[in-house]
Amino acid sequence: MLSLHARVIPIQAAPQNRSQLFRVSTNANLPGGLRQSHALLVRKGEISPGFGCYLFEKDISPSVVLPSGVTVVHVPTQLNYLSDNDVVSLRRDSSGIRVIWRDASPHNSVLLTERCNNYCLMCSQPPKDVDDDWLIEEAERLIPLIPRSAREIGFTGGEPTIYGERLITLLTRAKHYLPDTAVHVLSNGRRFSDPGFAAQWASIKHPDLMVGIPIYSDDPTTHDYVVQAHGAFDETVRGILNLKRLQQRVELRVVIHKQTVARLPQLAEWICRNLLFVDHVALMGLEMMGFARANISDLWIDPYDYKDTLSQTVNTLQTYGVPTSVYNHQLCTVNPDILSAYRKSISDWKNEYLEACTQCVRMNDCGGFFTSSKLHRHSDHIQPFLA
Ligand code: SF4
Repeated sequence: MLSLHARVIPIQAAPQNRSQLFRVSTNANLPGGLRQSHALLVRKGEISPGFGCYLFEKDISPSVVLPSGVTVVHVPTQLNYLSDNDVVSLRRDSSGIRVIWRDASPHNSVLLTERCNNYCLMCSQPPKDVDDDWLIEEAERLIPLIPRSAREIGFTGGEPTIYGERLITLLTRAKHYLPDTAVHVLSNGRRFSDPGFAAQWASIKHPDLMVGIPIYSDDPTTHDYVVQAHGAFDETVRGILNLKRLQQRVELRVVIHKQTVARLPQLAEWICRNLLFVDHVALMGLEMMGFARANISDLWIDPYDYKDTLSQTVNTLQTYGVPTSVYNHQLCTVNPDILSAYRKSISDWKNEYLEACTQCVRMNDCGGFFTSSKLHRHSDHIQPFLA
């Protein structure tokens, strides 16, 4: 698992009243006007003045005295992957660093809040009722630092729509700074039951914006039970309808576990009869994090045991022409008839394989495991393909 944060050893630091964000550069000859917003990553000791921050790899020290207001730190070896155009956030006291954008990764997701009005049984990021507005404030500062060539950015929570108009402003900012970058927002969809908020969302007129909204069952009681919120199903469905009425792009997300798998085929039928106009359906394996681990006995079902149900569900959706993907599954636990929908989807920094996988001839096509699944629970039917 790739580490996205670490403690750092300050060489010199000036206390700040908020985190400091910098785009990383290894180019000591960067034009002077760009240097303040960049952190120079020093690997061989060559440095130039004017950068906002200096990141020295282990065993290298500044060869000249740098101005006292500039932050200079040693970065630990677990962040050796840092490279040009990544974006880092340094703690106010320069004691820690987080990598909040990795330019080489297709999986950049920005957490906007840990607050949420759902309380899902399998939530990988359990909600916290805390004032964490600093997260969206940092996202606002991040956007101008992301290279314009970025293909996609994700915004997640918690529930990002709790910010209301501030979220709309953030997405508008993304449109202006990153006009060619696709934006994907994860939301429980309930806020969109307010037609006014749905209209604000549509008014952004983003050229490539998708919202991913979970629906866990065609049965409202089951959905409300899974998200632990009475009335959530009705609000979510009204939200989806409001968004589609305004021609907004909507993805439905279904996490498959013991509480949702029984009615998966009926859910597919219900989607095809009632929400045929959605843009994508993602059928997702369980991530063994947060509440999923706490509630494992109520949630765990071996993917191998529901592979026929998954095939039936995919078949129904595809027959009706609904773009469908299967995420977070291993190739040896699914039937070959769903391969057209199978995706390698697990974010690269938390994507691993088992020892047995090294002999598998289809490893390159297989999505593998979440690190958390590898550690805590995975299928008992992992079987390498040998030819
Ligand atoms: S053995 Fe490993 S690599 Fe091969 S299909 Fe199964 S999980 Fe994937």
